[in-house]
Amino acid sequence: MPRYEYRCKACGDTFELNRPMAESSAPATCPEGHTDTVKLLSTVAVTGAAAATPAPRAGGGGGCCGGGCCG
Ligand SMILES: [Zn+2]
Repeated sequence: MPRYEYRCKACGDTFELNRPMAESSAPATCPEGHTDTVKLLSTVAVTGAAAATPAPRAGGGGGCCGGGCCG
């Protein structure tokens, strides 16, 4: 039986349910009892490439204050 992920819009929690594919779009109730939920795409692979990009150093590129010539 496939597993589906849902997010509760009432408490912001995410939870998973094992249910038949025919009921994948049926309303799901969160563990807290809320019924205002949406189905998530559980097959999406998030690589996080955008979040892994390092931020550039401020003032970098000149090399003056980084090379010890400013002191
Ligand atoms: Zn909830």
